[in-house]
Amino acid sequence: MTPAGSLLVAHDLRKAYGPTNALDGAEFSIHPGEIVAVMGPSGSGKSTLLHCLAGIVTPDSGSITYNGREMATMNDAQRSALRSALRRSEFGFVFQFGQLVPELTCVENVALPLRLNGTARKEAERTALSWMERLEVDDLKGKRPGEVSGGQGQRVAVARALVTGPRVLFADEPTGALDSLNGERVMELLTDAARSANAAVVLVTHETRVAAYSDREIVVRDGKSRDMERVV
Ligand code: ADP
Repeated sequence: MTPAGSLLVAHDLRKAYGPTNALDGAEFSIHPGEIVAVMGPSGSGKSTLLHCLAGIVTPDSGSITYNGREMATMNDAQRSALRSALRRSEFGFVFQFGQLVPELTCVENVALPLRLNGTARKEAERTALSWMERLEVDDLKGKRPGEVSGGQGQRVAVARALVTGPRVLFADEPTGALDSLNGERVMELLTDAARSANAAVVLVTHETRVAAYSDREIVVRDGKSRDMERVV
C-alpha cells in the first residue's frame, strides 16, 4: 500500500550481503518537504536503506516508488538511466566525510553539480554563492576545503547538495565528525535551507539530538524498520 501523497516509498526491501541480512523487510515513506530521521544502532541497516532509496544499491527484492514511478519493474537499462537522471537533478547527498574536491575552491565545489549539468561558469557560481549565503559560508568562497573547519566544510557540502534544487536530500550522519555545537549549527542551517527549498530530507543518524530536527523518526533494527512515536 502506498501512503497517499508520498514522494518516495519503499516496501518490503530485502538486501543480503552473504549471510548478513542488511535489510529484512524494511518499509519507508516520505512526503514532499518532510524531514525523516532514520535511527538505529550501528549495523542495523540504516545506510543500506538510504543507499537503496537513493538508487546507489539495488535491493534483492521489494519495491521502491519515486514520484509514482516503480523502479523495481524497470529493466536494468531503464533503471540505470532513471537513477543517473535522479542523482543529477532530483537527489542531493551529504555524507559524513571527504566529499569536497580538495583542489577546487569552496565556491567551485558548490558550483560543480551545476557545471556538470552544463550551466555556464558565471551563472553556476552566482547560484552557488546564493546557497553559500543561506548556509552562512559565502565568506569562504575563495578558500579550499583544507583551509576551512569541519563544520564549515559540512555547510559547504550542504550548499553543494542543494544547489541543483533537489526534491530529496539524503544525509548520512552529516554531523558524525563534528562536535555538538558545530553539529547543531549544521543541522539548524541544513533543515532551514531544506525547508525553504521544499526538499524532503532522509536523515540517517544514531544521535537523538540530531533526529530531533526531523518531523518524524523511523527506527531500523536488524534490517526491519518501524515508525517511532516521538516522546517529547
Ligand atoms: P548502519 O548504517 O545501521 O550502521 P549498514 O546498513 O551499514 O548499517 O549495515 C548493515 C549490515 O550490513 C551490517 O552488518 C554491515 O556489516 C552489512 N553490510 C553493509 N554493507 C555491506 C557490504 N557492502 N558488504 C558486506 N556487508 C555489508
